[in-house]
Amino acid sequence: MSKIYLIGAGPGAADLLTLRAAKILADEAEIVLADDLVSAEILALVRPAARVLKVGKRGGKAPGRPHTPQDFIHRLMVRYARRGRTVVRLKGGDPCVFGRGGEEVEALAAAGLEAEVVPGLTAGIAVPAAAGIPVTHRAYTHGVTLVTGTAGDGCGEPNWAALAQSGTTLVIYMGLARLLNIVARLIAAGLPPDTPAAAIASGTLAAQRQVKGRLADLPALVAAEGLASPAIVVVGEVAALARVESLDLPAGRALAA
Ligand code: SAH
Repeated sequence: MSKIYLIGAGPGAADLLTLRAAKILADEAEIVLADDLVSAEILALVRPAARVLKVGKRGGKAPGRPHTPQDFIHRLMVRYARRGRTVVRLKGGDPCVFGRGGEEVEALAAAGLEAEVVPGLTAGIAVPAAAGIPVTHRAYTHGVTLVTGTAGDGCGEPNWAALAQSGTTLVIYMGLARLLNIVARLIAAGLPPDTPAAAIASGTLAAQRQVKGRLADLPALVAAEGLASPAIVVVGEVAALARVESLDLPAGRALAA
């Protein structure tokens, strides 16, 4: 009997994988379709007899790296499942948070197949936590909004003006490439330029690096420190709690001890 799993690999560190995910990778997987964000450490947990196919999508932006179209991934999953294989679609973070898990479940359903989703720790919550930022904190915010920093991908530009007014912590995925633009829009919509903000790259991995400062200065800080994708951007009072040298935080905003 074939089986299809959509598994979240968590933010990076292998020991942040769920026990369920680790068990399926080690005991059941026959074909693993893995995203770029899945670390070598995690792929090492896959049973040796399994076939691992890298189907990363960042290749389109990184010269020389292959780019796998989404519908090809759907076809691969369907093909192997119909051959009776146990197929694992392995994605960074949670498969259903900016991970196209929803699209993949729909594509499989259209082919008469059902997938079991195994949730993972999403980067937008786990990575700030690993850097000292609680995305909610009763003293500073009543909520958190997870949003993509990319425009396009079928759903247009996020409503930055509404987000600026939301009073929630903003956690921005895929935000580095357009950071200047996003920061300008948030400030134009009324978010004070001295709102605390942070960016964390390669969170939970040995290579984790982070910066924090005023929202208006964040693009310059990111550039000065050479932070690169994958990175999470956090905007809001809680960002001041990031464990990093405080850079130009105005008095009264430096909440960290
Ligand atoms: N499904 C994933 C998100 C995929 S979108 C999840 O739930 O986490 C890819 C984006 O996730 C990256 O551009 C980056 O913004 C974020 N991301 C994933 N892993 C990360 C990490 N280890 N450190 C910082 N950001 C990360």
